[in-house]
Amino acid sequence: MEVVENSKTGVSYWKIPQSKLRIRTGNTPYGQGVFACDPIPAGTALGEVRGTIIQGSDYQSDYCMDLGENQSLEPHAPYRYVNHCCEPNCELYQIDLEDESGVEHPMIVIEASRDIAVDDQLTIDYAWPAEEAIPCGCGAATCRGYIVHPDERELAVKLHSRGA
Ligand SMILES: [Zn+2]
Repeated sequence: MEVVENSKTGVSYWKIPQSKLRIRTGNTPYGQGVFACDPIPAGTALGEVRGTIIQGSDYQSDYCMDLGENQSLEPHAPYRYVNHCCEPNCELYQIDLEDESGVEHPMIVIEASRDIAVDDQLTIDYAWPAEEAIPCGCGAATCRGYIVHPDERELAVKLHSRGA
């Protein structure tokens, strides 16, 4: 993604190109997913993940994304439905945009990290903490077995075997 500096304010921001690429939602064995309708080259910023920003550190939902500083984003469709894969083809970036009064507004952008073919499902790595890990069925060759942060995989295995 391209970084642009506003010459007046000196603030750098990410420029999201007006993407003409199309995506769609569709069914998967584990609920809805998001699929490419056009080939998407690696490095393409697909757009902003819009949603509702919720204050409070104890907010939980199946889809919420942690923005830090006790804020979560409850994403709206379509990116609400992006599923996890241990070998994902997309990544999320958080950008803090500063307005004229210096207040930061967090924004989440989804970008293709690999080339994506037509009808491929768009996926990200949820990288959940071990305590929240659930078994993963992504089917990737390097599947961790759980939807969990790579560094917390062993802990997740331990926690699950103890509970069994
Ligand atoms: Zn997996």
